[in-house]
Parts: sequence; C-alpha cells; structure tokens
Amino acid sequence: MKLTMLGTGNALVTECYNTCFVLEAQDGQRLLVDGGGGNGLLRQLKAAGIDWRSLRQIFLTHRHLDHLTGILWMMRMICQNLARGAYEGDAWIYGHDEVTALLRELADRLLLPKERGFLDTRLHLVTVTDGETRELIGRPVTFFDLGSVKTKQYGFCMEYEPGRRLVCPGDEPLPERAFPMARGCDWLFHEAFCLYSEAEIFRPYEKNHTTVREACETAERLGVRRLLLYHTEEKNLARRRELYTAEGSPFYHGALLVPDDLDVIEL
Ligand SMILES: [Zn+2]
Repeated sequence: MKLTMLGTGNALVTECYNTCFVLEAQDGQRLLVDGGGGNGLLRQLKAAGIDWRSLRQIFLTHRHLDHLTGILWMMRMICQNLARGAYEGDAWIYGHDEVTALLRELADRLLLPKERGFLDTRLHLVTVTDGETRELIGRPVTFFDLGSVKTKQYGFCMEYEPGRRLVCPGDEPLPERAFPMARGCDWLFHEAFCLYSEAEIFRPYEKNHTTVREACETAERLGVRRLLLYHTEEKNLARRRELYTAEGSPFYHGALLVPDDLDVIEL
C-alpha cells in the first residue's frame, strides 16, 4: 500500500494544503480520504501525478470546510465529465449520514440538472455506520464514530495487508473508545495541531485538537508501531519535521513520521 500525502495542514493554512491523502493498493486502486478546502485538491493531485479520474473511492471523515470542500470539486468534475460522456465507470463517496445528506443537498443546489442526474446512478453516496466493515480498494475497512463533541466524525481502520492495520481518526485525537482498535496497530495517522511547547500560542484544546507530545504519548501507550502526524499549524513548516520529531521522540519509541505535502510513503 502506498500513501500520498496531498495535504498536511490544519483548516486555515495557506503555505501548504489542508490534510487529505490517497491510499493506493498494489493493483492500482486508489482511495481518497478527505478533500481539503477547495480546488487546490486538483492542483495537489496534479503535482502528485495522480489523475483525478483514478479516484473512484472517496471517504469523507466529517463535514468541516477544510475536509469537505475539495470533495465538492471531485463531485463536480465527475458529474461534469459524465454529462460530457468523458468519464467511464462509477465512483463512490462514503461517509456517515450527515456527510452524505449534506453532499446530496449541496449537489442538488450547486450542480447543473444534467450533472446531478448522475447522483446515485454513476456517482454513489454511501452512508456508513459506526462499526460497519466494508471493502474499499479491495481491503476491509471498519468505520468508527469518534464520539466528537464538535461535529460528528468517523475514522477508519483498514487492514491494508493481511494482519496489518492502519488506523485514522480523522482530525481529532484518538478517543478512548477506539483504543482497542488502535492497540498494536502498524500505522496510526494522528493530528497534531502544534508542538506541546507552543500550546499557549496555538491553543489546540479549544478546537478539540492536540499536540505532538500528546499524540506521541497516546501512540506509546497503545504500542503503535508507526505514528504519522498531520493536520498541523504552518508557522514551523520549514522546520516542522525537525521540531516535531525532536519533541515527540522522547515520548514515543516507534517510527515517527512528520510528512510534508506530496510526500509518498510505502506502508
Ligand atoms: Zn480539519
């Protein structure tokens, strides 16, 4: 499984793109997770050398602007090209009930009639439930409700190879309810809004986010093998990897990754 980070920033970044990524299976099937905040998604895909047409499966964690809006561009591109006869096959967007309801409403209001006619016939909005397992890009994926107090959000656990688990709790700290799923996993993708040493400046807790040190402590406690941090501030972008690794390493003894936008990682 190959990971391409399209974006690594939090909601308000301008120096990098909002957090979203592509998982690519060995057979070439691709899953887009979240879309970032706009048509910058298309720029990031272009820069990564990924044809937007190849993204046939999409998962949206929650309906915040910095995750959802890029998906609207995917919907537009797919439906517009379907209307032109320039798109083969079907595409699927997965999300919890509020996500699929909102995408449907926005598509109804924003797309042309000839475009939105492809909803549910060629572009499928699939509502997933807490604890449900589905096959995405040929891999079993179990969705889980984070129990967010902010806005309803789902994460997922993918068995990306037999016996190997990747856990992604979207852009919020891994909740205790998901600890059993994450314990001993091979990869944990976790938000880290900023350094713990700069929490006073960035105030992550007010936004239900956490810090590098705390994400590392969680991963250490759960025996996670590799921890990838994203959804960060951008003030430290040039030295982010260095600073975040330095803060986190004393608290976490697995492999700690702090990727930049467009980094490609073999899982
Ligand atoms: Zn976010």
